Amino acid sequence: MVKDSSSMAPRLSDFCYPDAPEEDKYSVCVHCGFCLEVCPTYQAWGDENHSPRGRVFLIKSCAEGELPLDESVIDPVFTCLDCRACETVCPSGVQVGALVEEARGQVFHARREHGDRDPLMRLFLRGIFPRPGRLKTIRRLVRFYQKSGLRTLARSTGVMRVLPPQAREMEDVIPEIGRGPAIDVLPTVMVPKGARKATAALFTGCVMDVFFSDVNEATARVMVRNGVEVHVPREQICCGALQVHAGDRDMAREMAKKNIEVFERAGVDYIAINAAGCGAALKEYPELFHDDPAWHERAVQFSARVRDITQLLVEVGFDPPKAELPMSITYHDACHLCHAQKIRREPRSLLTSVPGVDLREMPDSDRCCGSAGIYNLTHPDMAGELLERKMDDVPEGVEAIVMGNPGCMMQIRLGVKKRNQQLRVMHTVEVLDLAYQREETP
Ligand code: SF4
Ligand code: SF4
Repeated sequence: MVKDSSSMAPRLSDFCYPDAPEEDKYSVCVHCGFCLEVCPTYQAWGDENHSPRGRVFLIKSCAEGELPLDESVIDPVFTCLDCRACETVCPSGVQVGALVEEARGQVFHARREHGDRDPLMRLFLRGIFPRPGRLKTIRRLVRFYQKSGLRTLARSTGVMRVLPPQAREMEDVIPEIGRGPAIDVLPTVMVPKGARKATAALFTGCVMDVFFSDVNEATARVMVRNGVEVHVPREQICCGALQVHAGDRDMAREMAKKNIEVFERAGVDYIAINAAGCGAALKEYPELFHDDPAWHERAVQFSARVRDITQLLVEVGFDPPKAELPMSITYHDACHLCHAQKIRREPRSLLTSVPGVDLREMPDSDRCCGSAGIYNLTHPDMAGELLERKMDDVPEGVEAIVMGNPGCMMQIRLGVKKRNQQLRVMHTVEVLDLAYQREETP
């Protein structure tokens, strides 16, 4: 039931736009309810509509024309964290995340047709994230703000109070911005000293390179140290994950096409990524091209080469560090690493290979921390509740919480700050990089 918007009067009803939720995804739900106990929103509110099973049912009903696309469907679709915990336990393999994203695409189309646009979202999704030059300008402005004393002035004069509380909290935990984005600072090609095991192009990302460019630099060093020739394609852009989450699938497709072209030209064995959310999005590029066989095939080829950095290091055979790094840590499983990409073992193998590292598991390490893209900005209460639970689960006495996603790093930095704790928040590759650096210290 694809709508030709040029000939039909606009209406906010069922899924009548292209790229709608697919029957083969929602029809496999057997209503068993195994997903209920892992769903953070169902656990918090006890409302079936805000459970995976409920969301799938609402989406199916809308797709079959039994329900209109109104707030009774839109609200549960947007309260979903897209954490995919339900997919890990679902015996039928229901792709709840993909269904929710496709349903959001329908909402995005319907709202656009009704002139109901959020100018701020539009600015970020279309005006900033797809444009690397503007992202770099933001990075420079934040760095100037931090280094020039403006931040101190803003905080001391109370001018920050004009910002919404959640934006104020996030401003408080933005890391010190480093010397430059890795995409500019790193050489175009880095060659390992010994035998070359593989070639990989580093996907530098947007949030990762704006706020955590040090992690990108550490990732490149760790790959080179392990025999991987690293390429850094300068023309790459943001992966489009935020656009997919928000339902702007047309923009996400444009961004995916650009990246597919850029990384095809790189001619490497692998595409290495250190951000779980971006990694999942890159691996799911084929989902965006159901109706376009030529691009679908190119997306399949592209995605087959994508590896999370921990997956890549295990696959090529990493070299365990030799120097001691006495440190007690705990590990937080980012949702898009453990649930979306099924990567749990690899980061732990790397971390426990470091002599002196004592990995103490936290309970429910794979429960969402509340970051979930921009969920902590759009649904601060739920995100705050999940963050509190995550911080409660951190084992006593650890020195660092380690993870593999920049969104989680920001969110957990906020948790540490709120509790006034002396805990480091680190990416998995930073621990390895630190250990390798110690080998070089006489
Ligand atoms: S676990 Fe899967 S099949 Fe069972 S109710 Fe949930 S989504 Fe449906
Ligand atoms: S993705 Fe997460 S929040 Fe959404 S339905 Fe599944 S478990 Fe619940």
